[in-house]
Amino acid sequence: MFKKVLIANRGEIAVRIIRACRELGVRTVAVFSEADREALHAKIADEAICIGPASTAESYLNIKAILAACELTGADALHPGFGFLSENANFARMCARCGVTFIGPSPEAMLLMGDKATAKQTMREANVPVVPGSDGLVGSVEEAAEIAEKVGYPVMIKASAGGGGRGIRRVDRPEELEDAITTAKREAKSFFGDDGVYLEKFIVDPRHVEVQLLADHYGNVVHLGERDCSLQRRNQKMVEECPCPVLSPEMRKKMGDAAVRAAIACGYENAGTVEFLLSGDQFYFMEMNTRIQVEHPVTEFVTGIDIVKMQLRIAAGELLPFSQEDIHMQGHAIECRINAENPSQGFRPSPGKITSLYMPGGPGIRIDTSVYSGYEITPYYDSMIAKLIAYAPTREEALMKMQWALAEFLVEGVDTNIDFQLKLLRDPDVEAADYDIGFLGRNIGRLTK
Ligand code: ADP
Ligand code: ADP
Ligand code: MG
Repeated sequence: MFKKVLIANRGEIAVRIIRACRELGVRTVAVFSEADREALHAKIADEAICIGPASTAESYLNIKAILAACELTGADALHPGFGFLSENANFARMCARCGVTFIGPSPEAMLLMGDKATAKQTMREANVPVVPGSDGLVGSVEEAAEIAEKVGYPVMIKASAGGGGRGIRRVDRPEELEDAITTAKREAKSFFGDDGVYLEKFIVDPRHVEVQLLADHYGNVVHLGERDCSLQRRNQKMVEECPCPVLSPEMRKKMGDAAVRAAIACGYENAGTVEFLLSGDQFYFMEMNTRIQVEHPVTEFVTGIDIVKMQLRIAAGELLPFSQEDIHMQGHAIECRINAENPSQGFRPSPGKITSLYMPGGPGIRIDTSVYSGYEITPYYDSMIAKLIAYAPTREEALMKMQWALAEFLVEGVDTNIDFQLKLLRDPDVEAADYDIGFLGRNIGRLTK
């Protein structure tokens, strides 16, 4: 096992990783920006080192400063968390060159899956069903129009380097195509520095179902079942549950097998997630996230496997301690993302000082957070301040537990989406698991009233 791990991230995920390291007897180094001097991750790590000013480009994305911090502290491994540099193959390569183990897949696998258009081609060859659309990037508007005509409208224009719901445009009619391509390209260029876009059929009202994978360095790959992340606002997840409430055991097996094939096809190692769109009994590969995900705790509850600890053990060269037959899903878990934002004002971020904080607890309740009473939420980073996870033997009980936990949760000083989440989880359609990725968009007016 490693001696010392540097965590190249902030917020709740940095805290989560520090805790996993401690349980494995590994020392930890936190990095923080000037705006994060009072951040919890910087306080609880064994060592903490400032890597630059508030702006992410100068701190959490500052490769030189982060590698210098590894050198200064003698860290022998680095965990990237999610967001920031977690899917940057070049960064992973530079870590290796500096003699620091990157806790994640190889740079080659990251490159292959990081480009969504290339990833789709690889999947097609591995016999994993993909959404019909362009073979790779679209060149001209004329070419795009031809493909759109063939697959049928509506279609999606998607940034090949994209993530976090950015660089995605829906197109309903041929005359909107040119504009959509232009704006998607512009957004992709500014967010990801790469304006490549591809086209695929817009799947009407599917569910977002994703499969969690673990793969060691010796060719062993297992899946840990699926999560349903269909409750999204503008392609960004808000609530996730495990297992998917509408998946039959046959479909679960089919999807799990397809995800494992996907991992094998790209020589995948460590934890990763294959995202699918599920429409009726058809499912399509959407992308692979080559990192730990925000919603990993629901899977941890249901499988009893600590995914972050597994990431460390795999990266340290250990064999997977279980095979597919050993993995059993038991019970039901739901996660709500708690954001400092104002739902009635278009979910506008609400930075500021948390003057008072009370967090729920009890059996089957887990909170991953980095905020505390008196903590000042800065405007520089994303607005997620906590994840509330509820676990119970059945979905009905997990929902009930979550509703009560949300009702108990108290944050003063900033606006949050807690009341919105409560309303959402009490919605009869959500209670009946009758929702798809368009549900929030269609009902947002009613839910924010
Ligand atoms: P990200 O990198 O932001 O995770 P994804 O490609 O995973 O981007 O897509 C994000 C979300 O966009 C999905 O969860 C789904 O709601 C929607 N989406 C993506 N592709 C399609 C499609 N072809 N048809 C309909 N919805 C889609
Ligand atoms: P998921 O992990 O559920 O698929 P996303 O793909 O949207 O979610 O992104 C993962 C997380 O990383 C999100 O919570 C988002 O806030 C964060 N994130 C995405 N891009 C960045 C970035 N450039 N810098 C910092 N955080 C980011
Ligand atoms: Mg995605």
